[in-house]
Amino acid sequence: MSENKFIGAHVSVAGSVDRAVARAHDLKATAFALFTKNQRQWKAAALTTETIDNFRAACERYGYASRQILPHDSYLINLGHPTREGLEKSREAFIDEMQRCEHLGLSLLNFHPSSHLQQIAEDECLARIADSINLALEKTQGVTAVIENTAGQGSNLGFRFEQLAVIIDRVDDKNRVGVCIDTCHAFAAGYDLRTASACADTFKAFADIVGFHYLRGMHLNDAKTDCGSRVDRHHSLALGKIGKTTFAWIMADKRFDGIPMILETVKPDIWPQEIAWLKALAAGGNTAATPAES
Ligand SMILES: [Zn+2]
Ligand SMILES: [Zn+2]
Repeated sequence: MSENKFIGAHVSVAGSVDRAVARAHDLKATAFALFTKNQRQWKAAALTTETIDNFRAACERYGYASRQILPHDSYLINLGHPTREGLEKSREAFIDEMQRCEHLGLSLLNFHPSSHLQQIAEDECLARIADSINLALEKTQGVTAVIENTAGQGSNLGFRFEQLAVIIDRVDDKNRVGVCIDTCHAFAAGYDLRTASACADTFKAFADIVGFHYLRGMHLNDAKTDCGSRVDRHHSLALGKIGKTTFAWIMADKRFDGIPMILETVKPDIWPQEIAWLKALAAGGNTAATPAES
């Protein structure tokens, strides 16, 4: 049993980045994720002093510390891009995202590692990702680069724990690199989570290969697709192929304390119920109920 879990969802920044904070509060969330710019565009105007001040004030008013907030970068960024032009564009955009976090007083930036696009070898791609992280860490302060495991769709890397470990190994400042584990991605990548013993095995492998001291966040999603399908399709908690056992198991395990745990599930209108259900599980509550019943 643990009540030190930070639980929330990836909330909208429609209107202005600082509006995300009240949206998280409305969900009764104790964590949240957000984009600090339009995630489908390369460039964005710099954050204004007013937006930055409003964001910081809202975090203070609603009681969110930086360790409860997990910003996500643009989907366009590919830090191991096979071409020089693509790599430079991605690195520049990633540094900008890290700096935006710095300005907002945020300490984490979650990103998908990279796709090799069938043009370079896996090792070369992993090395490029690590070099990209090193460059970004040199140019910023106080923000940790948080690598998310992927489902391994297409040529996406980072779906094996070993690949995450290779990237971390090549990063110079180990204090500012971490990982975020997405349960849907892990499952789609072939890590079974359907039973307590499967969860124990999967996270034993994670502990051995990467290590819980690098765990900076979680994405809590059920999956529409099968274990090992390498296809990324999120589902609402307990309604997908993973089922409710894994979420109860994670909520009861202290190794997941003190990090933002973020829903990216498909029905935002039931996020309040999903968050309440997870909080109840973290407090040792009834595992028989499902989010929709809570
Ligand atoms: Zn995710
Ligand atoms: Zn996903």
